[in-house]
Amino acid sequence: MLPAVRLISEAAELAARQHSGMARKGRGNEPYINHLAEVAKLLATATDGGDAELVAAGWLHDVIEDTDTTRQELAQKFSDRVASLVVECTDDMSLPKAERRRRQVVDAPKKSASARLIKIADKISNVGARIHSGPTAEERDDLADYAGWAEQVVAGCRGGNVWLDTTFDNMVRQARASL
Ligand code: ZN
Repeated sequence: MLPAVRLISEAAELAARQHSGMARKGRGNEPYINHLAEVAKLLATATDGGDAELVAAGWLHDVIEDTDTTRQELAQKFSDRVASLVVECTDDMSLPKAERRRRQVVDAPKKSASARLIKIADKISNVGARIHSGPTAEERDDLADYAGWAEQVVAGCRGGNVWLDTTFDNMVRQARASL
């Protein structure tokens, strides 16, 4: 396996290149890479820097879903575990959104312990990005809807890391307070 610093740096570089030009949903249309950096940082904090493959998978968690990168490329460049974690976080984009959302809730408890941590970090980041000061009616509806669904997904993921669970709960509380 690559040394930890290389693993994470190469994951960040591939993610930046592949998601280049994409914007994330929510506040200010930030570059997509901001979302990936936040998820990776949450995972690094949650595990106190003890799991480089998890942090690399955090950088890469949307790269199969949103770009032409394949599982095989990730396995070759990084490791089988990194590739598997990213696959576990990949929705089947041929399905309609409602079905993808339903499956995330149903499938969450069946995921590996590490994939469940990535899912929670992803939802913390996505709820946070939807919190606006002085939201429009549409932004309010979107946040209420997203937070309610994220809670269902996270219900099937929690228990592996107290800090991530608490950070998610605090983010949802902050989201509801902003409505
Ligand atoms: Zn994501």
